[in-house]
Amino acid sequence: MRKILATVAGAAVALSLTACGGSGDGGGGGDKGTIGVAMPTKSSERWIADGNNIKKQLEAAGYKVDLQYAEDDIPTQVNQVENMVTKGEKMLVIAAIDGTALGDTLQKAEDSDIPIIAYDRLIRDSEAVDYYTTFDNEKVGTLQAQSLVDGLKAKGKAPYNVELFAGSPDDNNATFFWNGAMKVLQPMIDSGDMKVVSGQTGFKQAAILRWDPATAQKRMEDILTKSYSSETVDGVLSPYDGLSLGIIAALKANGYSGSGKPLPVVTGQDAEVQSVKSILQGEQYSTIFKDTRELAKVTVAMIKAIGADKKPEVNDTTTYDNGKKVVPSFLLDPVPVTKDSVQKVLVDSGYYTDADLK
Ligand code: BGC
Repeated sequence: MRKILATVAGAAVALSLTACGGSGDGGGGGDKGTIGVAMPTKSSERWIADGNNIKKQLEAAGYKVDLQYAEDDIPTQVNQVENMVTKGEKMLVIAAIDGTALGDTLQKAEDSDIPIIAYDRLIRDSEAVDYYTTFDNEKVGTLQAQSLVDGLKAKGKAPYNVELFAGSPDDNNATFFWNGAMKVLQPMIDSGDMKVVSGQTGFKQAAILRWDPATAQKRMEDILTKSYSSETVDGVLSPYDGLSLGIIAALKANGYSGSGKPLPVVTGQDAEVQSVKSILQGEQYSTIFKDTRELAKVTVAMIKAIGADKKPEVNDTTTYDNGKKVVPSFLLDPVPVTKDSVQKVLVDSGYYTDADLK
């Protein structure tokens, strides 16, 4: 018996050595074929966590994984996906940088019968997308706006001076976040309870290309210079933690801090470590937690189902029209987090340890 166990253990070691033996991120053990995973960038923690979680779970299910990051460069991502198709990988999981840029490449995948799952960001204008896994994106925006309003109410009475930021206009999610938020904010703007002092109330004016923190910082600085010489900002709708950090840096450089001229209520998304620390320090007000472990889990479940010629489980077949078809989707639930709920939502769930947040 002991001998058999030793042999099995030896085989397991050999297998895990093979798993580590691939080049760069492209390694992986197992014999069910290779899944190509195209992620947008390593400049944001959440995508690193997404990639790691998917890779770990796919390898545990016996797949090899070709995980690629494109550093937010569209031609790089197109190239990476094209290579995956050329290599004849079994299925593709894609978090697109620009939701409209992959059309031709995906047609090649479809011609080769390679199933495609759009991961977190919808791929637009393509028949070739088979499934979509994401969070309820409109709800993300609604939760961001609700937490902005909660934070403002806790500080004082209306009217409030507020500025609005949106995500990258080429990311389908950005419009969903914005529309969800405006459902809550537009009635307050219309009633005069909320005043966007800059006058910049349109999505296009508020959008930040590629979700770039430096662009958000610059926009906040410009707004403060032009519109806030005699007013103070009470709140900022920010759709992503990286932008929130840029926005807070601009505010601090303009004298917002402490009790004299307190930082406004600033929202966020992704519960990235630096922003959670900022929340614990009382700077950023809130974020939206999207558990990347769960997103990986539902995506891997889809891959397993497709691999076994079964229909993957979806829970939404109406919301995500990509311009060519309504893509069957699995939506997870986003969770708002403020200082009071960091421990319960992020630490007790094992997503972060106490030490991560020190
Ligand atoms: C994701 C967000 C993320 C943003 C910037 C969006 O597509 O849904 O979670 O904050 O991209 O990376």
